[in-house]
Amino acid sequence: MNPAPPAMADDVPAVVQPGSDIASNLSFDQLPLAPATLLNLQQLGYRQMTAIQAASLPLALAGHDLIAQAKTGSGKTAAFALSLLTKLNPRRFAVQALVLCPTRELADQVAQEIRRLARGEDNIKVLLLCGGSTMRPQMSSLEHGAHVVVGTPGRIMDHLQRGSLDLEALNTLVLDEADRMLDMGFIDDIVVVAQACPKERQTLLFSATYPEGIAALSRQFLRQPQQIKLLEKHEGSKIRQRFYEVANDRRLSAVTLLLNHYRPISTLAFCNTRQQCRDLLQVLLADGFVALALHGEMEQRERDQVLVQFANRSCSVLVATDVAARGLDIAQLEAVINVDVTPDAEVHVHRIGRTGRVDQSGWALSLVGSKEIGRVGNIVRAQGGSVEWHSLSALQVIGEEAGKPLLPPMITLRILAGRKEKIRPGDVLGALTGEAGFNKEQIGKINVTEFTTYVAVERSIAHEALRKLSAGKVKGKQLKVHFLQGQAGQDITPHA
Ligand code: ADP
Ligand code: MG
Repeated sequence: MNPAPPAMADDVPAVVQPGSDIASNLSFDQLPLAPATLLNLQQLGYRQMTAIQAASLPLALAGHDLIAQAKTGSGKTAAFALSLLTKLNPRRFAVQALVLCPTRELADQVAQEIRRLARGEDNIKVLLLCGGSTMRPQMSSLEHGAHVVVGTPGRIMDHLQRGSLDLEALNTLVLDEADRMLDMGFIDDIVVVAQACPKERQTLLFSATYPEGIAALSRQFLRQPQQIKLLEKHEGSKIRQRFYEVANDRRLSAVTLLLNHYRPISTLAFCNTRQQCRDLLQVLLADGFVALALHGEMEQRERDQVLVQFANRSCSVLVATDVAARGLDIAQLEAVINVDVTPDAEVHVHRIGRTGRVDQSGWALSLVGSKEIGRVGNIVRAQGGSVEWHSLSALQVIGEEAGKPLLPPMITLRILAGRKEKIRPGDVLGALTGEAGFNKEQIGKINVTEFTTYVAVERSIAHEALRKLSAGKVKGKQLKVHFLQGQAGQDITPHA
C-alpha cells in the first residue's frame, strides 16, 4: 500500500496565531457542530474555545490534514476529538477513527475525554487498546464493534497483524503527542499502522514541540497539511516567575530553601539530566521531603504509581527531566522549579506552563548558575518583557510553619484488588465513609487499576483508615491494604 502522496509540510504557509488572543472572541457556536454537541460542551463547562481549538477546529472540520503544535494543557484533545466525532456514523459499527498516543496513561486520558465529548450523541463506542493488558478481552471488545479506537502504536500494530483490527472504514487518523511517540522509538510501528489505513482519510498530527522528525513524518503521511503553531504567551498574572542566582555547589540545597519558603503543595522540579534528578531526589529525601522521580526507563507500573501519588497530593515534589515529564496533565500544580535552566527557551516556556493553569496562579522559580545567565537572556527574548531577580538569602520560613517539615496533605493506601475483582471507586469510598465513619472530605482521589486500587486519605487519618479498611470488607471480601512506599525505600507513613 502506498503512503499518502508527499506533501511538503515545510512549504505550506503556517497559520501562526498569537497565543491566547483569538480564544477570547470565538465561541463554539460558530463551528458547524450539532446542537446536542454544543449543549454537551456547555454542560462540560467548555464556554470558549482554547487558542489551539480556535485555530485548528475550523480547518479540521473542513477536512484538512493538520500539523498542530501547542503546549501541554492547551486543549489539543478536544481539538481533534470534536472533529473526528462530527464525522462518525454511529449506525455503522466499524472503526472510523484511530488515535495513536505514546503511553497507556495518555491514551486513557484521551479515551475518557472523547467519551465525555461524545455524550451528546447516540451511543458512540470508544475502545482503549494498549499494551500491559491482555489481548483476549481487547479482541472480543473489537468483535462487538467500536467507532473510535485509542491506543499505543505497538498494541495497535499487534491487533493489525493478528487481523483483529480492521481499519477499512477509517476516516480519521490522529497522531497525538507525535513528538513523544518519536522520542519513544515508535516510528516503525506508526508507519505500519498508517499504511494499514485507507489512503482517503484525514490525518491530524498534534505535538507539543516540533522536532526534525515531525516534518519527515508529516511528509510521509499527511496530505497538504495546514500547519498551526501557537506562539506561546503565558499570562504574566497567573505565572509568577522569579529567578535566583546560585553557586553550583549550592544548587540542590537551594531547592529545599525554595520549598520551605514557598511551601507549595505540589511541585514539579525540572533537571536537565537524569543524574541531576537522582542527586536532587537524594537531597530531598535526606531533608525529609516526600519526593519521587520520574524517568524514561521506568516500567509502566512504576510510572503509574508515581503519577498516582503525585496527582492525589501524597507526594510534594516530582523530579523529572523534560522527556520524562512530556505530556503529563496534572491539575493544581502550585510550583515549577527549574533546578537547571534549559538551553532552549521554548522548553523553558513549556516547563513553566505546567503551573498557573486555568483559574489558578502558580510559581515558576528558576535557579541560575553563573554560566546559565546567557540562557536567561534567550528566555527574555522569547517571552518578551523582563525577568525578576531575587536573592536566595532573602528566603526564610515565617510564621507558624517555621521549622515544620513540608509534608503533602494526603497519603496513598494501596489495596491489592482492582477492576479484576470488580472494585469501583464508590465501593472504596463507601467502605471508608460508611462503617469506618470517615468524612468524604478526608478521602481524596481513588484510582482503580486492573489489579490494584489506590486511595488517598488525609495524613491525619492514615493509620486508622488502613486499619479499618483491612478489618472491614469490600464486595464481601477481606482486603489486603498497605501504605504505598515511595521510591528508594522511602517510608512515607506518618509516625503514629
Ligand atoms: P493537551 O492535550 O493540549 O495537553 P488536554 O486536551 O488534555 O490538553 O486539555 C487540558 C484540560 O483542559 C483538560 O482537562 C480538558 O478537559 C480541559 N479543556 C479543554 N478544552 C477546554 C475548553 N474549551 N474549556 C475548558 N476546559 C477545556
Ligand atoms: Mg494531549
